[in-house]
Amino acid sequence: MVKVSTKLVTWDEIVEWSMGLARVIKESSFKPDVVVAVSRGGYVPARLICDFLLVENLVSIQSQHWTEAAKVAERAIIKFPYTLDLSGQRVLLVDDIIDTGDTVILARDFILSEWKPAELRVAALQWISPVAKIKPDFYYIEVKEWIWFQYPWTRHEDTVQFVRRILLEEKERRREWTYDEIRAAFEESYGIFVGDAYFRLALETLVELGVLERRGDVYVVRVT
Ligand code: ADP
Repeated sequence: MVKVSTKLVTWDEIVEWSMGLARVIKESSFKPDVVVAVSRGGYVPARLICDFLLVENLVSIQSQHWTEAAKVAERAIIKFPYTLDLSGQRVLLVDDIIDTGDTVILARDFILSEWKPAELRVAALQWISPVAKIKPDFYYIEVKEWIWFQYPWTRHEDTVQFVRRILLEEKERRREWTYDEIRAAFEESYGIFVGDAYFRLALETLVELGVLERRGDVYVVRVT
């Protein structure tokens, strides 16, 4: 069975980390005129940073590296390369985590060449220092060993993907599962529990997606 080292991040931690990051930025004396959220992971931290630093201008840029569907592309792309005039503005680019750094590097370079701000700094709640290609100007937590952070804004998406992975991996050995069995396998693989509401929603989604079929109390993995 898959084993992925995972940490469940709570909303309270997000507020605490964003407040901590805002303090780091404030102490540097950098005062952003505009915050740019790297979509989608940077949205919530960017909004909180705007709150803590009292910044009114918030826009976003969707830079995507790998999602399961985009894996074939194997590179980051700017999804909606719209034009914005940021001349004379001090920009703070905010992301949740700098892992490889690819998406944030692409967003930074695109903004510098296309939106032409006076200044640009990069901020992230977390920075995975051993693997990242860049060190952000501001970060709150340095992560020294790679781990998957299960952020609250991807809880449903992650749960669906994680459960799907377990079920498909086990499908030659077993097809029928009860709720408690899937939950136990999930905890064994990922070491976290996302709560019953999220877990039931994920199973409902997997039924909608045609991965599972529900027969009373039993979930059956469908043969595709
Ligand atoms: P970057 O390192 O520039 O953020 P990645 O392609 O490594 O680019 O990551 C893109 C996005 O994927 C991140 O902003 C984050 O939302 C998500 N992500 C990447 N690594 C992790 C991780 N270890 N834990 C949680 N989310 C992650």
